[in-house]
Amino acid sequence: MSKILISGGAGFIGGNYVRRLLTGAYGPVPDEVVVLDKLTYAGNLDNLAPVTSHPSYRFVQGDIADSALLATLLTDTTQVVNFAAETHVDRSIDSSAAFVDTNVVGTQRLLEAVRQAGVPRMVHVSTDEVYGSIDEGSWTESWPLEPNSPYAASKASADLMVRAYARTHGLNVSITRCSNNYGPYQYPEKVIPLFVTTLLGGGSVPLYGDGLNVRDWLHVDDHCRGISLVLDKGQPGEAYNIGGGQELTNRQLTGLLLEACGADWSQVRQVPDRKGHDRRYSLDDSKLRALGYRPGTAFTQGLAETVAWYRDNPSWWRPLLAAAAA
Ligand code: NAD
Repeated sequence: MSKILISGGAGFIGGNYVRRLLTGAYGPVPDEVVVLDKLTYAGNLDNLAPVTSHPSYRFVQGDIADSALLATLLTDTTQVVNFAAETHVDRSIDSSAAFVDTNVVGTQRLLEAVRQAGVPRMVHVSTDEVYGSIDEGSWTESWPLEPNSPYAASKASADLMVRAYARTHGLNVSITRCSNNYGPYQYPEKVIPLFVTTLLGGGSVPLYGDGLNVRDWLHVDDHCRGISLVLDKGQPGEAYNIGGGQELTNRQLTGLLLEACGADWSQVRQVPDRKGHDRRYSLDDSKLRALGYRPGTAFTQGLAETVAWYRDNPSWWRPLLAAAAA
């Protein structure tokens, strides 16, 4: 009997992972797929609508910091993948408390519950932002963690706790650190869905500072395939970078999105730079490539499909924008 618990599975990336897992993209579907999600503003059961009738699927609304709930859910669990997090850098600049509660304390409670329940395998999903900012070259997994935003600091703290549970308790847990993701079902506060939904409605979009900050964009399908590979083949206590997408300045990305939405630069307004804005992220993912990973979605095609998805699915994002504005 195989049972996987996916925390944060109603969010953008966790939802993608659950949908693909339940449609057999990663091999035989586990007997039980338990999605644990607090359903914060970023959690959305509509993200899971395509698979909720699958007989293996079960949803539980709850918090990864709830040790008693975890103890009941983790019985007989064979694998855990943790996506649950507060994820928006701008929100962490306004207030970092929830980031510590979920990303640091929540992760520690989950690790402890996994240890107590004797779960044989876990992957913790982290981010390239834990490394800080790099002007030239690319980070390997052995670079120091030098986070700059409260979001990145909370994720780096979690990574260190994961490492400690692997080293101290022998927990079979690995970490993944991915670059910026794009794709369908991303909450429309993040740059690509924010820009696309605004531009399609004829509005203007904000470009931070000089627009020359560089991000490496990877399709969410590729990220999730990387996570599945690490779950199968990753070593305990090891971190794996997941990258290999497309490096672009924010200005270049904006130009592509304007073109895809039939808009022009008159719909872009320059705004003061984000506080502590990291200049560039870049990952060396050769460690994961040695396990067989290759990104499969060409950026131009993936971006066109993503823009088309938001254009075709206003019933998914309009209620989210309305709720955020209320
Ligand atoms: P998201 O904000 O779309 O989803 C986060 C999910 O976690 C939501 O469903 C939310 O309800 C849930 N959640 C929050 N707090 C919780 C708690 N205490 N208990 C249970 N559930 C809780 O985020 P995402 O973009 O899907 O990111 C998923 C993971 O991937 C995060 O750990 C993030 O740090 C990491 N990551 C994201 C990116 C990216 O570009 N989006 C890149 C690299 C890594």
